[in-house]
Amino acid sequence: MSIAKQLFYRAASLTPVSFLQKAAARPLLLPYQHLVSDREVPYISPIYPFKDRKAFAQDLDYLLRHFRPVTLGEVVRAMKGGDPLPKGAFLLTFDDGLREIAEIVAPMLQAKGVPAVFFLNPAYLGNKTHFYRFKLGLMLDALRSGTVAASARKAAAELLGAGEEGLESAIQGIGWRRRALADELGGLFGLDFEGIFAKERPYMDHGEVEGLVRAGFSLGGHSMEHPYYQELTLDEQVAQTLASVDAVCGQFGEKERVFAFPHSDEGVSRAFFSRVLEGEGAVDLIFGTANHQADIDPRILQRFNSERPDIPIGDCVKGILLLEALRKASGRNLVTRS
Ligand SMILES: [Zn+2]
Repeated sequence: MSIAKQLFYRAASLTPVSFLQKAAARPLLLPYQHLVSDREVPYISPIYPFKDRKAFAQDLDYLLRHFRPVTLGEVVRAMKGGDPLPKGAFLLTFDDGLREIAEIVAPMLQAKGVPAVFFLNPAYLGNKTHFYRFKLGLMLDALRSGTVAASARKAAAELLGAGEEGLESAIQGIGWRRRALADELGGLFGLDFEGIFAKERPYMDHGEVEGLVRAGFSLGGHSMEHPYYQELTLDEQVAQTLASVDAVCGQFGEKERVFAFPHSDEGVSRAFFSRVLEGEGAVDLIFGTANHQADIDPRILQRFNSERPDIPIGDCVKGILLLEALRKASGRNLVTRS
């Protein structure tokens, strides 16, 4: 984390949370994360860090001490003009549908009676096809553990047009349109993706998701295949979005039609939102990752990342509320959309 960011969190952490709650523009706290695990996950750990059970349990205790959990149904009704949310409300959301949700996260939430929404990529449920970024994660893991031959590193760097010292960031930077490179590079590195993913089972299967529904949790779409929306045409964005919401509602009987952007919603146009929020098969709510900024429609809710293990949720919450209050005071709390 940069020094400026560290200072910001430090300043925020010294401010009482009750003061920040009053100053913030929005009454609803919206953290997002992906998984909780006590082990290194070889296809994820090299891409982003996450919390362990102990840190997550502490986060839940903090949230329950200072805020009130609400369900997706309550949020949908409130945003559509129904009953307002209780003061200091929070809604937990988890993206991607990883197997740690069924094995670790959901049981911990159930034990404390906390509702949550799980946003799923239907293409990957059941682990028959694999997310290309998890292949990149395995490559980074292999590079860092020193198991890749020098000749393979050289060939990979050449293929990506990078120097050998820039190989890791070149791998990290492979976008959706160039995703076929993941298999090509995997071959160079001698990685058996099918074998590894069959053993690791990164995503939940159908039965595990049904278990979440039986336990009272909510589901949403997160695109079919988790592309970068910035690389898609408008028609592709709309198709990925609506197909994922239709799949989640159709296969698991979820009544609320909600969607969370994969990666980021930055640069997504007004035309996308009018196509997805209006007409037949419209989505009820859309969740983004733009740190609680207000968006062009009250049905678009911006969340913040609460997954970084070096920031306890208390500091994260105070940071986001302070940021929101400062943005509101300076009149700059609105996402820009063309
Ligand atoms: Zn995601």
